[in-house]
Amino acid sequence: KRRFPNEPEYHQAVEEVLSTIEEEYNKHPEFEKANLIERLCIPDRVYQFRVTWMDDKGQIQTNMGYRVQHNNVIGPYKGGIRFHSSVNLSILKFLAFEQTFKNSLTTLPMGGAKGGSDFSPRGKSNAEVMRFCQAFMLELNRHIGPDTDVPAGDIGVGGREVGYMFGMYKKLTHEFSGVFTGKGLEFGGSLIRPEATGYGNVYFLMEMLKTKGTDLKGKTVLISGSGNVAQYTAEKVLQLGGKVLTMSDSDGYIYDPDGIDREKLDYIMELKNLYRGRIREYAEKYGCKYVAGARPWGEKADIALPSATQNEINGDQARQLVANGVMAVSEGANMPSTPEAIRVFQEAKILYAPGKAANAGGVSVSGLEMSQNSERLSWTSEEVDARLHAIMENIHQNCVKYGTEADGYVNYVKGANVAGFMKVAKAMMAQGIV
Ligand code: NDP
Repeated sequence: KRRFPNEPEYHQAVEEVLSTIEEEYNKHPEFEKANLIERLCIPDRVYQFRVTWMDDKGQIQTNMGYRVQHNNVIGPYKGGIRFHSSVNLSILKFLAFEQTFKNSLTTLPMGGAKGGSDFSPRGKSNAEVMRFCQAFMLELNRHIGPDTDVPAGDIGVGGREVGYMFGMYKKLTHEFSGVFTGKGLEFGGSLIRPEATGYGNVYFLMEMLKTKGTDLKGKTVLISGSGNVAQYTAEKVLQLGGKVLTMSDSDGYIYDPDGIDREKLDYIMELKNLYRGRIREYAEKYGCKYVAGARPWGEKADIALPSATQNEINGDQARQLVANGVMAVSEGANMPSTPEAIRVFQEAKILYAPGKAANAGGVSVSGLEMSQNSERLSWTSEEVDARLHAIMENIHQNCVKYGTEADGYVNYVKGANVAGFMKVAKAMMAQGIV
């Protein structure tokens, strides 16, 4: 905190990891001698730059651009790019830190990184988004590469933005390579990558429910967000017999007591992906409840799948969820629950999975996209989906292995942190002081 003041999200993520790995860490005095914790708390490097671009009126605009390369002991740096007005160094450092341990959990050879800009695509024309992406890549290109650092999408960065950035990288480097994941299918993208984070979260949830002898059939589900992760989370929940009651965006949430069925979800996908509209329009079309400026956690349901952004469930909202009988919370977003909310879930002994484990499906399929690009082949959706499923089962097993407490309760936070950390720590020890 002395070295990095004013970075609350970063401190929050670091404290969460450190508080759960202490017991395991203390079993290895050699880690302390090698100063592993301090080395892991300082990213390998941080790039920070100005992005200058022209809007449709001919006005020159500036934004901040960043790439945080946190750790590459188990593979090239890997992690998404976020475009959102709230982006700052604290948020990107927390995401890069988390990414290192998440990527370690996937079993695939990927290090951890994150990048982005305080540019908001909201309300911008297609041409403005393209010019911004190109200007961003003008600087970023010199720091990334298919064997160095492989970015992907995140909030505000979907297939469109990845396409524009990839196109500019190709132009600048005169090289066609797998430098990005989440690419279009026509130019090296993987089948199931758009679906992967949402599907993966539901596969993880199913593993948790299995430990209680149940599944999704007939269960009611609250989802926040209506972007990439939220849409495919809803799709998989529907396929497995659950009923989705809510979705949201940064303006508010909708509550549909009849459930968001396939047809209604298609409407949301069109609304969000094609027209870039607001979730409020769903309520107008289907005549259901819309609550402006709020999150859906006050509604009653069996399961909550936060899929929008960090710190979107606070302690009071967690208590409300528990009081309403929620049995499982599985995080599609990164760090959506505050530390107090996590304590509430764990004290209530409900099933609670942190994003680091539950949303690792996205980066896992990104890893599979890198494999396909390296072999210059593409796999069928069945093959990618089966591998995704197996990876999520494996992550669940590791969480149970390292996170089961004396009374049998599985502390998935501890399990994920210890499993992720141990692999990174061992690789750091093996590679010496670098
Ligand atoms: P999208 O940009 O596709 O969607 C984000 C959704 O969350 C939108 O509905 C957006 O609303 C809403 N949202 C964003 N910021 C806020 C905010 N401050 N308050 C309330 N709502 C907000 O992003 P993704 O679906 O890709 O990402 C969602 C979460 O999942 C993030 O935490 C991300 O880090 C995480 N994640 C994503 C992965 C991926 O593969 N894409 C992989 C692993 C994790 P609006 O439309 O109004 O902006």
